Order: sequence, then C-alpha cells, then structure tokens
Amino acid sequence: MPELPEVETVRRQMSQALVGVKIKKIIVRFGGRIQPSAAVLTKVLTGAKFQSFERRAKLLLSNFNNGWTLVTHLKMTGKYVLKKHGTTPEKHAHVIFELSNGFDLWFHDVRKFGYLKLLKTNDLETKIFGKENYGPEPLEKSFTMAVMTERLKMRPKKLLKPLLMDPTCIAGIGNIYADEACWHARTRPTRRINTLTKLEFAALYEGIQTSLKESIKHRGASSENYRDLYDTEGESVKFLHAYGKEKCPRCHGAMKKIKIGSRSAHFCPKCQS
Ligand SMILES: [Zn+2]
Repeated sequence: MPELPEVETVRRQMSQALVGVKIKKIIVRFGGRIQPSAAVLTKVLTGAKFQSFERRAKLLLSNFNNGWTLVTHLKMTGKYVLKKHGTTPEKHAHVIFELSNGFDLWFHDVRKFGYLKLLKTNDLETKIFGKENYGPEPLEKSFTMAVMTERLKMRPKKLLKPLLMDPTCIAGIGNIYADEACWHARTRPTRRINTLTKLEFAALYEGIQTSLKESIKHRGASSENYRDLYDTEGESVKFLHAYGKEKCPRCHGAMKKIKIGSRSAHFCPKCQS
C-alpha cells in the first residue's frame, strides 16, 4: 500500500504538472468508489482548474479553483497516471480526466479499494479530519522527538510496530517504514512501548525521519503495485534495510519475518533487541 513517501511523491509530481490545468471532460468508466456520485463529480469538476495539492496522512487532496476538493485514498493498488491525450485506456482506468494541457489523467485501480471523495474545501476539517483523528505528520517541523515519544507513550502497553502504523498515533507510516524505523533504532518491532529506553526513542525518531526522507528522494517504494504519476516505479526498494530483506545490511546476519496480528514484520534478530 502506498505510504507517506509514495503519496507525497505523487503530490509533488501533480503540483509540478497540473497546477493551473483545466479539466475539459470527465469520463467515468467505473463509478462505484466515487462519493457522493460520479454524476456530481462530473458536474462539479468539468471546467474546474487544479489550484493546489496537499497530503494528509495517506490522503491526497486536489484543491480546485471553484472551492471544491477531491480527496483520494489510493489504498492497495490505486494510482494516478498521466497519459498523452487519446491513449487507449487500460482496463482498470476507472476515471479519465481530459486536461487542457494535452494529457489525460487516469485514476487507475486494479483492486478497487481506493476511493475519490468530493467535498467543499471548507468542509474538509469537519467532514474528514475532525472525524479521522489523525496523529501528527512525521515530517512537519513541529514533530519533534518529544512529540513522537509522547504520542507513543500514550499507549504504553502496545507493541511498537503496530502502534507506529496506527494513523491516529502518527500519520502516514505503514508496513515498510515501520520496519525500517525499527531497524534503524536497533529495536524489535514486537517490543512494548513501556520497555523502550530514552536512547531507543531517540534512535527511532531518527529512523522515522531518515527512512521517510530517503524514500521521498527516490520517489517511493514500488515493492508491490505502486507507480508514480508517470507510471514509473519508485526506486527506494533498493535503499531499504529491513523490509523484504533476506540479509541484514548492518551485520550480514539473516533477517527474520514474523507475523504481528495479521501483518508481517521484518527484523534482524542479531542487531535488533
Ligand atoms: Zn543485523
């Protein structure tokens, strides 16, 4: 599933390519994941111009010049891709936005878990963020080590990795970057929060910062289906240390893969304690 670095990559690419661009026509080929409806989306956004793009947790927000915002969650396999206008749509291109710049923007989703939600920009706070109760953004300046420690310590009995992945604790971290952060901190993903030392919290903080920033630099991790706006794989898998790895790049020992609840976790039994 795309996590913070992947959604952030798409957001940055959309900002570069689409601000000021007008939607000339919208073709909905599958409208089952559009809220409130495909008809409303078509009516409201035809003729509108992209004004800005934001990200909150794993949500991508496209703000338009008419006071509306399209909120997208890519979920498992969703992606936005830009194609030369007139390119024959692939089977899973569910929505096609014909643009004024000679391109078509596809919303493409093989598994159909992703959704598009159209809202008045002014209603975002009450209708989305007020309800979802997202934790702080880990790359904001205000997210200090003290803030991170406090957020985690609010649930002292929880296991480290599942809590890192809980968006109400810290926003945007999923399976990949939780494994990476634990590896950086030399801490097992199964540790309880109330057993972590000050030094481990400090290393964890560094690990979160480093792994997210590194991944954005390499346009995200295409370990599964994620592609960027140009339908290209991100390159950060090459730069991962723990997630999906057989050998630990630090001590060269064998990595271990375990289940925590329904999710997997990768760690080095030798250098993560
Ligand atoms: Zn190791």
